[in-house]
Amino acid sequence: MIEIKNKQDCCGCEACYNVCPLNCISMKYDEEGFKFPYVDHQKCVDCRKCESACPMIRNKPIDSEIAEGYAAVNKNLNDRLQSSSGGVFGLLATKIINLGGIVVGCSMAQDCKRAEHIVVDTQKDLSKLYGSKYIQSDINRIYSVVKNNLIKQKPVLFSGTPCQVEGLKSFLAQPYDNLICVDLICHGVPSPILWEKNAAYIEKKSGSTLKGVNFRCKNNKGQFEYRVNSPKNTKMYYRSKEEDSYFQFFLKNLSLRRSCYQCRFKGINRSADITLGDFWGGEEFVPSLCDGNGISIVILHSLIGKKLFEEIKVSLDTKKIDIDAVFSRHNRALTESFEEPENRQEFWMDFHRLSYGKLSKKYAPVSKKDKVKALLRKSGLLDLIRKGCLHKRHKDSGTGSF
Ligand SMILES: Cc1cc2nc3c(=O)[nH]c(=O)nc-3n(C[C@H](O)[C@H](O)[C@H](O)COP(=O)(O)OP(=O)(O)OC[C@H]3O[C@@H](n4cnc5c(N)ncnc54)[C@H](O)[C@@H]3O)c2cc1C
Repeated sequence: MIEIKNKQDCCGCEACYNVCPLNCISMKYDEEGFKFPYVDHQKCVDCRKCESACPMIRNKPIDSEIAEGYAAVNKNLNDRLQSSSGGVFGLLATKIINLGGIVVGCSMAQDCKRAEHIVVDTQKDLSKLYGSKYIQSDINRIYSVVKNNLIKQKPVLFSGTPCQVEGLKSFLAQPYDNLICVDLICHGVPSPILWEKNAAYIEKKSGSTLKGVNFRCKNNKGQFEYRVNSPKNTKMYYRSKEEDSYFQFFLKNLSLRRSCYQCRFKGINRSADITLGDFWGGEEFVPSLCDGNGISIVILHSLIGKKLFEEIKVSLDTKKIDIDAVFSRHNRALTESFEEPENRQEFWMDFHRLSYGKLSKKYAPVSKKDKVKALLRKSGLLDLIRKGCLHKRHKDSGTGSF
């Protein structure tokens, strides 16, 4: 039976929870707000199905059918503005819905306090899945729902982090022709409890209820857009990425799940059919696609993934790229985990001791330079300065920017 001795050995995919035939596994939050499985020893008959479904234990070598890379931009600007990168996910998902299928992906819960995987079968609801939510999402019983739909022969598109795709695949334990999996280039997943504390802080400061969040807002006002409702009105709060402490904790790798520091699902080979990410280094490799509204990098791993991509290509501007050349210089999250910072333990001790405001001041102080940068961005000047400097810029640090 599943017994987690070291936290880095559990990615929280919930495959064990979904597969247990006697429902004797429950998922409980630890002190950092991440879910871990607990087995009810009274009920467990030691069938070991949970062990076979665990992608961390299975550690199956992955051999992709193909490895083709593209830069891609959705021709519909509105769709792209709702998405985090180039808006490729929305087109893939629309195609599956038009075929009468379902799309499973990550949405914010109605109370905006958690992220969770949900099933969508209409174009109208698809917008709930648009955009990156920088929180580990709850899978709950969604793998079982996916399986039921696969058995009914419905086309299913599942989208999630690489570990969630691996979790689904090892839960299913057999290939299905009607399943297509899309994973992300993943920096790592931040703690849900930290998000809750941030949301509570926003609500307290604004004296309103949080009703919506966009983690990758594409206007000049700020990367983070918080929509809050008071009895009188609805307001938007914007914070630049430098000003938003929640995002800074993520970028500084303080809030990631322990397994993310040794992620076992990195690499160019994936068991997903398609990998999506931000095209960092776009100015260098595909300058004609750069308009400041986001470009996706698309990696095709299977023939079924390639077929679906070919079918949506008419709605995209694309350019084939050399994957090795791009990733040798940019976006190391595809192939490498980020290091656990030395002060991570101290951060989590402080998380339980300090108010959110004090935690932010200590671990994500906003410098004068950051404040000036935020002001320049809001006024549109930063864009102009950057555009002027683009031709001089040929390298980035490898971590890119979200
Ligand atoms: C936690 C996280 C870390 C990321 N790190 C990187 C990175 O280091 N480098 C990089 O290039 N790209 C990263 N991305 C991916 C990138 O931000 C875009 O999501 C991706 O390029 C797809 O963009 P899109 O415009 O095609 O579609 P979008 O509409 O932006 O993508 C939406 C899709 O993302 C999925 N999704 C959103 N949030 C989550 C979540 N919390 N858990 C699981 N699935 C989710 C949804 O199910 C949906 O299918 C990350 C995304 C997340 C959620």
